[in-house]
Amino acid sequence: MPATTGTLYIISAPSGAGKTSLVKALIDAQPQVRVSVSHTTRAMRPGEVDGVNYHFVSREEFLERLAQDEFLEHAEVFGNLYGTSQRCLEQTLAEGFDLILEIDWQGAQQVRKLMPQAKSIFILPPTQEALRQRLNNRGQDSEEIIERRMREAVSEMSHYVEYDYLVINDDFSHALSDLQSIFRANRLHQQSQQQRYRQLLEQLLA
Ligand code: 5GP
Repeated sequence: MPATTGTLYIISAPSGAGKTSLVKALIDAQPQVRVSVSHTTRAMRPGEVDGVNYHFVSREEFLERLAQDEFLEHAEVFGNLYGTSQRCLEQTLAEGFDLILEIDWQGAQQVRKLMPQAKSIFILPPTQEALRQRLNNRGQDSEEIIERRMREAVSEMSHYVEYDYLVINDDFSHALSDLQSIFRANRLHQQSQQQRYRQLLEQLLA
C-alpha cells in the first residue's frame, strides 16, 4: 500500500486555451501525476492515438458502458459523448498517483458532487482574440466549426466561478509554473503531509 492516496484534480478550459499542452508539460515534469484517458464517441483527429488521447469507441459501445455504470461522470460536448472510467480512477488514486481529469464543466459538476475533495482548476486564454487565433492555428476545423467553438468557449468560460483555481494562459511558462504551484501546494497540505510523514511526526512528538 502506498503511504498516501493521490489527489484528484479536475482541469477544464475552453477548446484552444492550451490545456492539453500545459497538462502534458506538467506531467512530463511530475512522475507522480497521471492523466485519465476518457472514452469518447468523437472521431479521431490527425495525430491522435487510440488509448493515449482517448479510448475512441462507437456510440453503441459508449451507451453499453454507461448502462454498466462504468463512468464516474459523462457528458455530451459538441454532439459527442465523453466519459471518465470509474475503475481506472479508483485504481490510479489507490496506487498513490495524483490524477487529472481533463473534462468539461458538466463533468466537473458531477465529480464535485461525488468527490468533494477534488481540486478544480480552470484555464483561461488571455483574450477572445487569442482564443480565436489558437482555434484557427489548429487548421483542423472549418470556419463554421471555429465560430461554433467560439460560442461554446464563451459558454464554457462562464463556469469559471465554480472552480477552486484560475490560471490565465498568457505566457506558457508562467501558466505552467502557476499550475505546478497548485500541485505543489496541495502536496504540502497538512493532511497529505501527515499521511506521508506519519513516522517523523510520531518521533518529533515523542
Ligand atoms: P476534445 O474533443 O476537443 O478533445 O474535447 C472537447 C471537450 O470535451 C473538452 O472541453 C474536454 O475537456 C471535454 N472532455 C474530454 N473528456 C471528457 C470526459 O471524460 N468527460 C467530460 N465531461 N468532458 C470531457
